[in-house]
Amino acid sequence: MVTRPDIAELERPALEAALAERGRARFHAGQIFRWIYRRGITDPEAMTDLSRELRETLAVDFRWTTPTLVHRERSVDGTEKFLLRFDDGRTVESVFIPDTPSMTFCISTQVGCAMACAFCLTGKMGLVRNLTAGEIVGQVRVLAGALHMRDTAFNIVLMGMGEPLHNYDETMKALRILADEQGFDLPPRRVTLSTVGLLPALERLAAEPVMPNLAISLHAPTDVQRGALVPINKKYGVAEIIAACKRFPLKKRSRITFEYVLLAGVNDSPEDAHRLAKLLGGMKAKVNLIPLNAAAGIPFERPSDAAIDRFAKIVADHGIVVSVRKSRGRDIRAACGQLIVEGQKKSAGQQLATLAFR
Ligand code: SAH
Repeated sequence: MVTRPDIAELERPALEAALAERGRARFHAGQIFRWIYRRGITDPEAMTDLSRELRETLAVDFRWTTPTLVHRERSVDGTEKFLLRFDDGRTVESVFIPDTPSMTFCISTQVGCAMACAFCLTGKMGLVRNLTAGEIVGQVRVLAGALHMRDTAFNIVLMGMGEPLHNYDETMKALRILADEQGFDLPPRRVTLSTVGLLPALERLAAEPVMPNLAISLHAPTDVQRGALVPINKKYGVAEIIAACKRFPLKKRSRITFEYVLLAGVNDSPEDAHRLAKLLGGMKAKVNLIPLNAAAGIPFERPSDAAIDRFAKIVADHGIVVSVRKSRGRDIRAACGQLIVEGQKKSAGQQLATLAFR
């Protein structure tokens, strides 16, 4: 059986090659990209600037997969959470965060996550599977359509479910598809990739032509503390990650963001703040403090506002740019570390019956 390529999974050069193999002109790939990514059209019949024969070829020889929007929920603060289902029945959550000050899509790269960070609900699921590039971009296509934002600029943060550098190739391919000037034309500077710091992948990222902004989930200034929160730290420790960040090629004016989830009595002391500032001293760094979003099953507490302010002030007094992430969408469990979809280990059929959208 000849497989029908899924156009959602093809970068434009690959679509050009697939067209050429079928005796069609390569430049049609650009037209097709404009239909899919700019206008949200995936039915070849509706692609009116293509010849009847080409439309026929597309319908017969290719597939077009788009995630199904299963559920959509809106927070009092305007944040919206989307539950999307893929062809095999697996689901992820994607989040729209308005006015931060830009419009931001928080996109998932895996179903579940293998990193098992002690304070993250997604980590409790374990890794179910990687997403494909088409599924990662598919989330953006669905959100842009559902929110009527195809003509509006938006940013993307790879801070949904999953560890992007643990699904390196598909994540990078997705960024190239998103950046294609015939498609979304999303400049890489509008994308932020957040990672626990998988060193070999971080080194690869440093050599990429399409380079997103980098955010490192640091969460603690010492190996003892970080190892208890982020299990992979036992393999790639704080000093190694910082050294890799110092080598990371940065554009003028750009900085690496260090995310730091604040946990009461665990990593929020003044000493921790001083240590963090010293660790990052001399780097082009900024610190993003994320007060814990507490949840049942997460054995930590959010520090008091006074403790958060004290921590931020110490870091700032060392001359480091620091911000405190405002929690968005907590009422609909769309905030950082709260994305979880139940029942994913079950078969797709069972899953539909038990799927609890929390
Ligand atoms: N795996 C990637 C990206 C996903 S998480 C990473 O770890 O960076 C995005 C951010 O949310 C990370 O900094 C993560 O540590 C943080 N986070 C996870 N659980 C959280 C929680 N319960 N409260 C606040 N932030 C949390």
